[in-house]
Amino acid sequence: MILEVFSSGPLETNAYLLVCDVTKRAAVIDVPPESADVLLERIKELSLSVDAILLTHSHWDHIAEVSELKKHLKALIYIHKEDAGNLESPDSDKLPLFFPLRGIKPDGYLTDGQELTIGKLVITVIHTPGHSPGSVCFYLLSERILISGDTLFRGTIGNLSLPTARPALMWDSLKKLAALPAMTKVYPGHGNSTTIGAERWIAQAQGRFS
Ligand SMILES: [Zn+2]
Ligand SMILES: [Zn+2]
Repeated sequence: MILEVFSSGPLETNAYLLVCDVTKRAAVIDVPPESADVLLERIKELSLSVDAILLTHSHWDHIAEVSELKKHLKALIYIHKEDAGNLESPDSDKLPLFFPLRGIKPDGYLTDGQELTIGKLVITVIHTPGHSPGSVCFYLLSERILISGDTLFRGTIGNLSLPTARPALMWDSLKKLAALPAMTKVYPGHGNSTTIGAERWIAQAQGRFS
């Protein structure tokens, strides 16, 4: 497996390029502002076939260039149904938008426990509502990695004060993540990576944040 991170846009949002190095098949996870050109260049450089554009949630800083990227790739777009509305109409989540953003229809919906295959890599979808109703994390058991979107960051958790946040649902989502193996490496939607072991405190996050 190859996992590369590309940070871009005003909030330095992370896009991930996940590659099965045996088959050269790949997935892009989240597509922040100003990320499409950089991703396309790297995809070309490595001669990859991108099967899927996977979205951790629909906040503008994670979906800004999905439609741009999709123009150049045959990849299918996947998002959880509860965040799909804002992908199609990118201001329906009531977050302030600083630039016009074109909506796009997803090709499929992500559900909790669903397994997606990219080459020889198996990705398990974990539904983690809280930061947004349709937030998901992508877990690769064999690679011991978790791509956590804005649910879990190094040392903290996603913003729960946004209009679409569901604070009451966040605590169970974090408990699910805390139950993963300690050595699981966590790659968040913003900032540097961490491990589940280093973030075990999230099992008791409710006491700290509410
Ligand atoms: Zn977010
Ligand atoms: Zn974000």
